[in-house]
Amino acid sequence: MMDFLKDLGIAEVNSGAYADGWIENPSGEETVSVNPATGEPIARIKNAGTDDYEAAVQAAQSAFEKWRMIPAPRRGEIVRQVGNELRKYKEPLGKLVSLEMGKILTEGEGEVQEMIDIADFAVGLSRQLYGNTMHSERPGHRMYEQWHPLGTIGIISAFNFPVAVWSWNAMIAAVCGDTMLWKPARDVPLCAIAVQNIVNRVIEPEGLGGLFCLTVGGSATVGEKMVADRRLPLISATGSCKMGRKIGQVVAERLGRSLLELGGNNAIIVMDDADLDLALRAILFGAVGTAGQRCTSTRRVFLHRKIADEVRDKLVRAYGTIRIGDPLDRDTLMGPLITPRAVDDVMNAIAEVKKEGGEILCGGNRLDRPGNFCEPTIATGRPDMAIVQEETFGPLLYVFTVDSLEEAMGHHNAVTQGLSSAIFTRNLQASEEFLSARGSDCGIANVNIGTSGAEIGGAFGGEKETGGGREAGSDSWKAYMRRQTNTINWSNELPLAQGVQFL
Ligand code: NAD
Repeated sequence: MMDFLKDLGIAEVNSGAYADGWIENPSGEETVSVNPATGEPIARIKNAGTDDYEAAVQAAQSAFEKWRMIPAPRRGEIVRQVGNELRKYKEPLGKLVSLEMGKILTEGEGEVQEMIDIADFAVGLSRQLYGNTMHSERPGHRMYEQWHPLGTIGIISAFNFPVAVWSWNAMIAAVCGDTMLWKPARDVPLCAIAVQNIVNRVIEPEGLGGLFCLTVGGSATVGEKMVADRRLPLISATGSCKMGRKIGQVVAERLGRSLLELGGNNAIIVMDDADLDLALRAILFGAVGTAGQRCTSTRRVFLHRKIADEVRDKLVRAYGTIRIGDPLDRDTLMGPLITPRAVDDVMNAIAEVKKEGGEILCGGNRLDRPGNFCEPTIATGRPDMAIVQEETFGPLLYVFTVDSLEEAMGHHNAVTQGLSSAIFTRNLQASEEFLSARGSDCGIANVNIGTSGAEIGGAFGGEKETGGGREAGSDSWKAYMRRQTNTINWSNELPLAQGVQFL
């Protein structure tokens, strides 16, 4: 066991259930966390069983009774301390993210920085949970709205952001007065256990152990229970569109709320007047960064015909220089995919490209070495090929040539997903067209910036089959609260609205 894992409280065998204290011997199955770069085991986890799930929900519900009545700025103070603990553990936690998920070290550390940033944001927000005041139409009346906590929130997270996605939800929901139960993705349980250990250093001494609860477990044992559980008024779920479709239905059936952050099929348009150096770097980071395993990864590129050959050639050349290997090595640019199955998915997509008449411009192979490695790949063909419509979660980029912005926009918006998008141009009209109501149909639309690497200050999320949810900055906090409209009559009359006369 590496020393930094011990610093994070990771043991050979770990409890995967926290309910106001670690449950010593959870009743679920035992699973092994595997290093995707080597295929070797890192540590074992005792998953949460049904009884542990029940204990966690009850702990979170009971903590809510107390937490909801603590003034929001005081709640912010707890989140401030969590942010400080995260600062202390940024290095080892970032390293664990790299080790268990496979993203390169700078991205692993960046993910923890994102947690710190959102904690800071939430602290400020704790004094700004504003409601509006309206003028009542009735004399001697005052009308306003206020925001109350919702209850215990269920957080279901994807493997590719094993710590940041939790914090986007948890830091904001905490200042909003909610308590929460987290189910992390199957392949990255140690990251969640380490985060729980870090936050415990703040919540346990304060007697707030139920504020953040954790149940590591499969979709069937824990995930589906959460989704169907009426005690969880909001399910915030990050993952594939397939998962969102299922979850959305079950939560809607019980008239609960869901906040869905699902798959993307993000594109960059490069116009003939673009700064090609910027565009190339953005495409490279967007398509190869995190081995193409970001929801915002660049999957499609539309190149204006005048610059298409040049950009394509430069991209192919740049792909040849990508250093693939151990994500913990500072020289590595691309680490492994999360599982052997993920590599299969990329290989199957490449086979599909060829079957549909497309062409592989570079890459296209699995790497013959331990771990889940494949080459970053550029393919071309027709933008309407069936495989291009799908999100293949790996380093597979499609490059197409277009003759106009209009043509590019048509292809751009023709997919079912709507997360992130970008245009590279120096032309004001092209840029405004891209951002206009008939332009990009995505939740995120950038100019001269790539599709991935959003800041936490803006609302993050996407349209269409990406699910419509918004997390992190701006007014995303409203999803974690309930709105109450209050009218106070301080007169001696009882006038009815709309001038209705009665009695
Ligand atoms: P996934 O859909 O396989 O799983 C995501 C989570 O949902 C996991 O915790 C999983 O156990 C759980 N889950 C799956 N089915 C469930 C069910 N029926 N009931 C309850 N829980 C269930 O996704 P993944 O492979 O972990 O992550 C990759 C996907 O996530 C990609 O599609 C990516 O685009 C998406 N993603 C989206 C965002 C975003 O903000 N839009 C961010 C990160 C990842």
